[in-house]
Order: sequence, then structure tokens, then C-alpha cells
Amino acid sequence: MSTHHDWSDAGFSTRAIHAGQDPDPTTGAVVVPVHLTSTYKQDGVGGLRGGYEYTRSGNPTRTALETALAAAETPRGATPARGFAFASGLAAEDTLLRAVLRPGDHVVLPDDAYGGSYRLIARTFGAWGVEHTAVDLTDLDAVAAAVRPTTRVVWVETPTNPLLGISDIAALAGVARDAGALLVVDNTFASPYLQQPIALGADVVVHSTTKYVGGHSDVVGGALVVADGATLPGGREAPNGGRLVADAVAFGQNASGAVAGPFDSWLTLRGLKTLAVRMERHQANALAVARFLEQHPRVEQVIYPGLESHPGHALAKKQMRGAGGMVSFRVGSEDKALEVVSRTQVFTLAESLGGVESLIEHPGRMTHASVAGSALEVPADLVRLSVGIEDAEDLVADLDAALG
Ligand SMILES: *Cc1c(COP(=O)(O)O)cnc(C)c1O
Repeated sequence: MSTHHDWSDAGFSTRAIHAGQDPDPTTGAVVVPVHLTSTYKQDGVGGLRGGYEYTRSGNPTRTALETALAAAETPRGATPARGFAFASGLAAEDTLLRAVLRPGDHVVLPDDAYGGSYRLIARTFGAWGVEHTAVDLTDLDAVAAAVRPTTRVVWVETPTNPLLGISDIAALAGVARDAGALLVVDNTFASPYLQQPIALGADVVVHSTTKYVGGHSDVVGGALVVADGATLPGGREAPNGGRLVADAVAFGQNASGAVAGPFDSWLTLRGLKTLAVRMERHQANALAVARFLEQHPRVEQVIYPGLESHPGHALAKKQMRGAGGMVSFRVGSEDKALEVVSRTQVFTLAESLGGVESLIEHPGRMTHASVAGSALEVPADLVRLSVGIEDAEDLVADLDAALG
């Protein structure tokens, strides 16, 4: 029996399918069961079987997901990172920020950050005395200039949403290190298959597992993966002792309680197993769609890191295994953009991304409506695609018909 096999030398897919997922010792079930229980029998007071006491504090299905996600983000052969699963991506972010920040601290974040992350940092944490500066993360001088003595977190998204900007994780890790700040990378758009920020120097990786990791648009979830040895900024201590970010996050996960439920954990783990093959198809389809749009007379600009015309193309090639499944394009006016998104048949008009089915949306009026008028406002003629894993020729034909 392969109980507690160490998968640290295995490849990505082997880990995604096996890490934390040993066959059940009692029945031999090859799939981790959905442990629908809130509490656990104790063999005498404090006699916990496997450390489980109450499901907010720990649940075996969630443990399997947390172990597998950590393995997926750990560089091959390195000491495993620690994974934590939450009820949503924003719940994960909230727990992390409360674990590492204090009033008076400062956060540097991208000027095209995910709107919900921006809202959380600027409005929720702003009200508790946390300050922030939004900068163009592709401009390293601007990032260095934004850093203050109180900067404790440099927040990175690459590729960004919806403009698919690519920033240099290794270089930003250097800036953060010099500032005594943590480098946090929201790896939602790339997924751990295409990009492993910890290998490039990140302290913490954030995921909305709702997107590519879950991959089937049927579950909302989030995760944090903390690099081995990452310590709290400013010489702080975790409430449960020590200086490790992972310990402070573990405390916060239980203390605040925004955990992933057992069934959500199971669905997310099921998604993770096929991440590698799905991402290959997502990006093959995305490239086919981007190349088609590039030569279409009604399209003014195509934004896809896999195209040579993208300013971050070389950097994406260097730090990613592929350019991913998101494509944005501009059609010259808001009216035309609204027309295109209302005409497709295979691409479904909806927010979110990363599922097997292709989605189309108008960021200005939909996902990014809340940032209108701020530094994060997006062009009104922009259309965003989450390219799914259907047949590429059907996706191209659908866009061809919608563009008219
Ligand atoms: C969706 C998303 C989030 C938020 O995750 P939820 O699961 O919706 O809470 C954070 N970052 C990025 C890049 C996202 O796309």
C-alpha cells in the first residue's frame, strides 16, 4: 500500500492525481471519499484519530485537496509548501491579509488587479487603516518607487485580468525581498500547471479554484499555498507562535472559519486531477482563436500572451509553460463590443472563466463595472473570452458569425 508516499520527485500530473490521495486504508477506495461529517469520535478525551476534531479545524477531504494543491505548487524536489482551502478565492485572500497585515501597513498591487481583490484591499482593509498603491507591475521602476518603509505585501497577478499583462515574478520577488515585504502571487489565470510562482521566489500563491483548478464551473472555492519557510513581515509573530506565514494562516483559517466544505473540496480535487490535459487544450484553442481574430478586419487589437505581438510574449515564454486560455480583443466601440457578446452561440455570455465551456463577456459592463472611474477602468470596446475545450473550429466559426 502506498500510504503517505512522498510524491515530491514526481511530475505535475502524477502529483495532481496522487499527492494526498492514497487509497482509503479501510476499503481501498481509490477516490478520496466526501467526508460529510462535522465532528469525529474521540477515543477518550483528546484521543483524536488522525488529528481530526471538528470540520472547521480539519476534514479529510479538505486535507486531501490542500495536500494536492500544495504539491501542485511546489517546485519539483523542493520541500513541500503548505496548502489551505477556503470557501472562495476572496475568503482565501481575506484570511491571508488578516494573517500578515496590521493597521498602518501598505500594500502594492497591480493597477489592473482582479476587481474583487482591489475592493477587498482598498475598501475593506482600507477601513481598517491599511494603505495601498496601485501600479503597473510591468514597470519595475514604478513598483520600486511605490514601495514604502511600511510596505508588507507586494501583490502580483500575471497574467492580469482582462488585459493579460505579464509581469516578471522573479524580478518582483527581488523588489519585495529588498523591501522586507511578502511577494503574493494570484496564480488563478495561469493555474499551477502553467506557472509555479514559488519556484520564482513567491512567498504565497493565491487561487480562485473556482476557475481553472475546479475547471467545470460547478464550484466556488479558493486556496493559499505558502512556501516552505516563508516568515511574517516586520518581524511579527503568529498568534499560535513562531514566525511562519503558514502558521499564521493555519490559525486564521480556523479562527475565522471561511473553510472549503467537504463536497466543494471533493469537486475541486476532482478538477485538479485533469488540470494538465485541460490547460493544454484550453491554450491550443486560445491560440487558434487569437490567430483567427488577429486577421479579422473588424478586430482592432488582439491581446493574447501567446501571440508574438504581445509585449509580454518573451517573458511569458520564460516563466510560463504556455500562454493559457484567456483572450481579449478590441472592436473599436462599446456598441460593437456589446453586439458581439450578444450574438455568439457556442460562447456563453457569462462572467467567470476557466471552465470547460467557452464564455464571452464585456468587462466594462460586467466583471469590471465596479472599477469604472478608478485606476482599474478597462476600455469600453474590450471583449474577453474564456476559451473552453470544445472543438476549435466551432469556436472560430461562432466568433466569425458574431463579428458579422
Ligand atoms: C475570480 C477571481 C478571484 C476571486 O475568487 P472567487 O472564487 O470568486 O472569490 C480572485 N482573483 C482572480 C484573478 C479571479 O479571477
